[in-house]
Order: sequence, then C-alpha cells, then structure tokens
Amino acid sequence: MDARGKTETVIRGIAASRGIAYGQVFLYLQSELEIPRYQVDPAKRVQEIARFDQALVTTRQQIAKIQQQVRKNLSEEEALIFDAHQMVLEDQALIGETIREFETTGLNIETCFNAVGQRYIQAFSEIDDEYLRERAADIKDVTRRVLHVLLGQSAVNLTELVEKRIIVARDLSPSEAAGIDRSAALGIATDGGSRTSHAVIVARSMKIPAVVAARDLTKRVQDGDWMIVDGYEGIAILHPTQATLFRYGKIQKEKSSFESRLLAANELPAETLDGVRVTLRANIEKADEVALVRQYRGEGVGLYRTEYLYLSSHHLPNEEQQYANYRAIVEGLAPAPVTIRTLDIGGDKPLPGNPELIGPEANPFLGFRAIRMCLENPELFKEQLRAILRASAHGKVEIMYPMIGCAEELERANALLAEARAELKARGQACDDQVRVGTMIEIPSAALAADTLAPHCQFFSIGTNDLIQYLLAIDRGNNRIAHLYDPTHPAVLRVLKQVIDAAHQFRLKVSVCGEMAGDPIYAPLLVGLGVDELSMTPPLLPAVKYLVRAMKFSEAQKLATDCLAQTDPKKTAALVEAFYEQHVGAE
Ligand code: PEP
Ligand code: MG
Repeated sequence: MDARGKTETVIRGIAASRGIAYGQVFLYLQSELEIPRYQVDPAKRVQEIARFDQALVTTRQQIAKIQQQVRKNLSEEEALIFDAHQMVLEDQALIGETIREFETTGLNIETCFNAVGQRYIQAFSEIDDEYLRERAADIKDVTRRVLHVLLGQSAVNLTELVEKRIIVARDLSPSEAAGIDRSAALGIATDGGSRTSHAVIVARSMKIPAVVAARDLTKRVQDGDWMIVDGYEGIAILHPTQATLFRYGKIQKEKSSFESRLLAANELPAETLDGVRVTLRANIEKADEVALVRQYRGEGVGLYRTEYLYLSSHHLPNEEQQYANYRAIVEGLAPAPVTIRTLDIGGDKPLPGNPELIGPEANPFLGFRAIRMCLENPELFKEQLRAILRASAHGKVEIMYPMIGCAEELERANALLAEARAELKARGQACDDQVRVGTMIEIPSAALAADTLAPHCQFFSIGTNDLIQYLLAIDRGNNRIAHLYDPTHPAVLRVLKQVIDAAHQFRLKVSVCGEMAGDPIYAPLLVGLGVDELSMTPPLLPAVKYLVRAMKFSEAQKLATDCLAQTDPKKTAALVEAFYEQHVGAE
C-alpha cells in the first residue's frame, strides 16, 4: 500500500521512451466525435462540396501552424511528421472517394468523409507492418481534424496542461503529442500505441519517459493518482509504495549516469580495447531520419529500406521523386556512405496502392517478392536504379539487392544496373562510376552458396531477420512461434560463420543489418565471428558502441569460438549474456 492507503499495481506495456517519471496523473480522455447524418438538399450539392474544400484548406492552415510551432519548439525532424499529414490532406484518392460517396449517397459531407476515412484507417491498420500500421494513426489524426473543422468545433489539445503531470490517455495523436508543453509533462502512458508511433517519436525527442500499449490503464487510474512511468522496462506503477519509490530513486540515478556515459563514449571511435575498428552504421526507413543518424554518430547508412517510399504513397514514386529523396539523404550524410537497398516489396510488405504488382499469394514470404519481382519488371527496377545512380553524383552511394537467392539473379540485376547506367550516360546525366554493389544474404541458399555470389559483388550484408526466419522455418511476424525464433540456434551460428568466411576469402567486407546487429547481447558474437560492420536503428548505436569499446576483439573471438562449439542454444544464450554482464552489466 502507498502512503494514502491505496494498493500498488504494476501495469505492463511497451517501453517507448527511456527514462523514469513519478508524479500525479492527468487523465486525458478524448471524447468521441458525434457526427450528424442527413441528406443534403440536391440544390445545395455544389455548396456542400465547396464546404468540404474549404475545410481541407482550413485544416491545411492549422497543420502548417502546428508544424511551425513544432519546428520552433522541437526540431525540423519532428516538424516533418506533419508533412505526412499534409500528404493525407492532398491525397486525391481519399478526396475523390469522398466526393464519389457524396454523389452516390447524397449524405452530408462529414458522414461521407468519415466513412471513407474509416475505410482507409481500417485498410492500413490491417497491414502486417508496424510502420505502415502507424500511418493509420496519421490518417485518423487528420480525418479527426477535418471533421472538427466541418462541425465547427475546435480540436482538443493538451496545451492547457500547465502543472507538472503524467499524461495518461487511450492514445495520443501526433498533433496532440506535439502540442504537449515539455516543461509540464513528466511522463506519458497510453492504453494503445506502439514503439514507432509518431506520438512516441515526439516523446522520445522531448526526452519524456513513455510507456505505450498498457491496455486498460485509463480504466484503472483516476485523475490525480500517483504513478511511476518506467520507460526502460515498459511498466506503469500505480500508487507506488515507499519501498518502490526508494528502489526507483536508486535506479534513476544509476541509469542516468550510465546513459550519460553511453552518450559521452558515443563521441569516440568504435574501436575495441585491442585496437580493432568496427564500423557502426544506421538503418533508416525515411529520409528525415538523417538527423537521427547524425545525432547518434552513425558512420553513414548501412541499410536504407526504400520500399517505404513506395509503401507510404498510393502511387509508385517516379524517377525524379526517388532521385530527390535519395539525393537528400546522400547529401545530408556526405562524405559518409549510404547503402540504398532496392525495392524489397512483398512478404510482410504488400504494396497498398498497386496490389496487382504482386497479387494474392498462398505463401507471400516464399513468393514473388523483392528482387524476384524487380527482375520481372525491369522498367520499374531500372527507374529506381537510375534514381540511385543519379544520387551517387552527390556523395557516396552503395547499391544493395534484397532477397538474392542465386548467382544468376545477381548477374541479371547487375546487367540491368549496367543498362540503367548506359541510359543515364545517353541522357548526359552524371553518376559515380565506382558505386559499390552488394547483396543481402538473407536466404539460406545464398548463405550456403555465398562463394558463388562473391565474384559478382563488392560486399555482403547479412539480413538476419529473414535469414533466421527461412533457416528455422519460423514466420518472423507470428507471435505464437516467436519463442522458436532463436538467433543462438547452432544452425544460425554455423551459417553466419560460413558466410563471413566466404566473404573474407574473396576479400569482401561483410555487414549485418538485421536486428541482431543492434542488440548489445549479440553484437560481440557477430564481431567475434568476423563481421566488419553492424548496422542498426540509430538510437541503438551508443549502447553497441559502448560495448565494442569495452571489450577486446580477442575476447569476442573466443566468445564466438565457444558459442560455435555449443550444441545447446540455451548454453549459447547464457554465454552471450554472461559476456554482456561482464563487460557492461556491472557498470
Ligand atoms: C533482414 O531481413 O534482416 C533485413 C535487414 O531486412 P528486412 O528486415 O527489411 O527484411
Ligand atoms: Mg529482409
């Protein structure tokens, strides 16, 4: 029980923004919008459409104003979130469908817009990809705003919060989150949301501890309750006892001194105690992450997942649009290299605007995805290759093909690359003649026959996410078998070793860009196996660099040898965990 006689309750969620907060709850419950439904007088149809157009204009102005505030109070990067909102407002498919709905039903425009918006939100929330599911939140946020304008109501916001409180809400839209005064918000805890929701990105950038997906939290708290938000462990503790508060006081002290040491060490090179340099680069999905790469001192980008450019729009981006996007990243990070991966569509990433490119498949993960689809659509592929090559004139670019399964595919991809280059030459457009070309190793056949691929490329990047999935026959997105997805399985280690050795035999550099690379538990093992480069989501860079700097390469090599000798994955897991504890855990 706490000092006020209430029972301590621990509510589990997902850790979304690091840090610990303690304070009183500000329960923020957004009311459901009530949308009237009525038939519009046929004589007033033109005015109804004009009312819709006007609401879109007003909403655009509102968003531009918030964007300006955010740019001023936070950063350019957070302000870019609202570009996505403006794009929703300019989406001709959404607007056109609303007008068609209005023309067929004759119902008031709020009802039509709401119906179409809900269909979009539904479609995006069903996509099996966290990032795209989050775009449903953008559409939800924008439709709510437009509906507020149409109904003549002012949008809810959190700007009135003046006292220092912990905000508890069902979910927060990006614009609600951006409206929070950072000096008043101690922490954030929500029923819904995920690690990649924009609201969380904003919380992280404001360094406000946050826990999301805490299910029915809003039903269990009352305004004014005392609560701890533990953004490290992903828990909210209601009515903490004195003992818990004491424990958290200690944790907070330790964590903040460790974090400041991590960040200080992040300014230094990623070099082991015995002088071996490991390259640490960043994985990005969007151009606006360049600022994060710089902030966390990534040595360029080891994986740019370009499919998000295709996935976030209803139309395929053309060469010019792609060129502008790639160029911005390359220039933003020059002279550091940027590895641009060609379109990796299919499997867990269907193309919402152009489903016909892939079509329904019984086994999408084993289907017409990535390079397989690109080789059958050479014009689409060359359009991307030309855009990448053109960007190479502005900095250092590397091209990487996803899902290569055999040498023939690699040769065919290279032949199309040569054609794309020749087309640019014919147009008189510049590109770097020395662009390095690499292949992802993420299919067991490619891994086991890596020596047959090596003569056709300049580097390998191991995609452990897919490689483990295919090697162990475990769908990486299926929660029921998630416990079987095991990076310490002897098959995984043996295959990794074989790929790394094949690369080095051909004097190729080898990188790992799957999630394993950014996990400080596995990074030493990868380095010990001989990986030259690790690429990960930018905020993970300091922890991995800290570990690299805290260990000797010779120790990592011994760890790898010991792990390879194990037949029991549990023992391997114990070895890598012990290594971490020895080098960092005791800090
Ligand atoms: C991988 O498979 O490890 C990888 C990095 O690619 P993605 O996660 O985009 O499939
Ligand atoms: Mg992959």
